[in-house]
Amino acid sequence: MSCTCQICGKQYKIDLIIPDGLWEIIRPDGKAKGAGLICSSCIMRRLETLDYYSAYQLITSPKTNEEKEIFNQYLAKKKENYIKRMKEKNLTSRFTQTK
Ligand SMILES: [Zn+2]
Repeated sequence: MSCTCQICGKQYKIDLIIPDGLWEIIRPDGKAKGAGLICSSCIMRRLETLDYYSAYQLITSPKTNEEKEIFNQYLAKKKENYIKRMKEKNLTSRFTQTK
């Protein structure tokens, strides 16, 4: 399943959920309030055009057990790589500290 971006026309499968107020600023021209489909690349490009610095938090919401498993494997791999990097730098990390 994928959607078609109403700005660039590309197919996309990553759906970013944008707060309503922000969506009204970046939504595609000519679309009704709350309506429109934009790919993550176009969302980020539009956010970049806003004339101020912003920070956003990306939160995942895996829906199926398969997605949850893939996400958990991804997190475990990230943690493993982080510990490896810290060991290479000869630093202790919050993951390796024992009390
Ligand atoms: Zn797009």
